[in-house]
Amino acid sequence: MSDLLKGPFHLTNTLTRKKEEFVPLRPPHVGLYVCGPTVYSDVHLGNVRSFLTFDVLYRWLTHLGYKVRYVRNITDVGHLVGDVDEGEDKIAKRARLEQLEPMEIVQKYTNGFHDVMRLFNILPPSIEPTATGHLIEQIGMVERIVESGYGYEANGSVYFDVPKFAEKHAYGELSGRRIDELMSNTRDTEGQDEKRSPLDFAIWKKAEPQHLMKWPSPWGEGFPGWHLECSAMSTKYLGLTFDIHGGGMDLKFPHHECEIAQSVAADGVAPVRYWMHGNMLTVNGRKMAKSEGNGFTPEELLTGNHKLLEQGYSAMTVRFFMLQCHYASTLDFSNAAMQAAEKGLERLMAAVVTLHKLKPGATDGADVEALTGRCYAAMNDDLNTPVMIAELFEGVRIINSVHDGKLELTAAGIDSLKGLYQSMVFEVLGLKEESSSASDDGAMDGLVQEFIRMRAEAKARKDFGSSDAIRDRLLALGIVLKDTKEGTTWERA
Ligand SMILES: [Zn+2]
Repeated sequence: MSDLLKGPFHLTNTLTRKKEEFVPLRPPHVGLYVCGPTVYSDVHLGNVRSFLTFDVLYRWLTHLGYKVRYVRNITDVGHLVGDVDEGEDKIAKRARLEQLEPMEIVQKYTNGFHDVMRLFNILPPSIEPTATGHLIEQIGMVERIVESGYGYEANGSVYFDVPKFAEKHAYGELSGRRIDELMSNTRDTEGQDEKRSPLDFAIWKKAEPQHLMKWPSPWGEGFPGWHLECSAMSTKYLGLTFDIHGGGMDLKFPHHECEIAQSVAADGVAPVRYWMHGNMLTVNGRKMAKSEGNGFTPEELLTGNHKLLEQGYSAMTVRFFMLQCHYASTLDFSNAAMQAAEKGLERLMAAVVTLHKLKPGATDGADVEALTGRCYAAMNDDLNTPVMIAELFEGVRIINSVHDGKLELTAAGIDSLKGLYQSMVFEVLGLKEESSSASDDGAMDGLVQEFIRMRAEAKARKDFGSSDAIRDRLLALGIVLKDTKEGTTWERA
């Protein structure tokens, strides 16, 4: 199709709260940064939705012909319990509880995160930098902030002076917060005496002697503040100012607000041209959270092994379900909605198979070009995947009518439809073929591998109880584990 039909891409900039035409700084290159996971626990489905949102953005920009450098970090130090400046490091705490090295925790949950991303067909980024791998860049940024007068050292820690920064620059613009309101809402917290203002945040923290993760710095041994890594790494890989920064809605404040302040203080420029935030996932109307008991893991979802689940659902059903909602809206997870998504996806995939069997006729009884234009228009309108999917179902009606002999399409018309479905269904929405059953080989492979790994670990611990439990769960899915000389394999019961 012509580039004209592809049209300009508009996206909602959460900084201006407006839908704006996307114009990259250095076309055809696009710099995209997305806040990645803190690797201290298993990923839950709410996290999957956030990464899926930016996967679709990445896929769409790529489809439009942009050369995207997509940076998504791994937070492996500095994220403290409760997201505040005091308290234990989340990874160090987990290491203590699991009696492992912090870097073993990091590796374990990074691997788990990658498995889940693969399961849901979420593409890997171009660069996946870690905070511990960029200490030099972070220390350099702290030094620049101190030099500019917006950072001060206190007892081996360095804090960002928010009130001083706010005198000359906008602080709170992204999240719509006002500095005077923030001031009146603060409460005293432990360790605050080091800060000049309760609004100040740590960019470098002094490490106590027993602290496991610490590095030498001009201010003594310590570790970087959580907000700092994203500023330092986005600057390193994407430049002082780059195109798009994404993250979950909950990161707007304080995390992203602090990122803006750090970059402006250190380098004198606003770092991001378009901010984009994905909305959250609720379950039966309540926010998904581990503490609510509704933050089920992808594994529980696939097996249906959770009290809130009536059955297991395949990874592609979940992906399709999420894409049927606009990324900026809240999405409620329910069994009824999932079952509807399962049927919808089956119908769509069946039509793709039918499309490849259609016999051409002499005339075009449907306007495939107009349909294509509407699909592009929907995606260019702030990644409106629900509208695009509705258009694809309009196409399903055409495909089935041609198949039933009620409508005719020429060979060229059929080819255009094939091209459209190849692009939209597989490349842009990122769906892949899988049977409707949750025990499909493709969808199950990652999970089975995970079970095999868990079983090997249980064996190593001589924990046969847990190993049997795993065998039972696999049996329920019609899968039998077999021990051979080469290791554990699996086959259908
Ligand atoms: Zn971040």
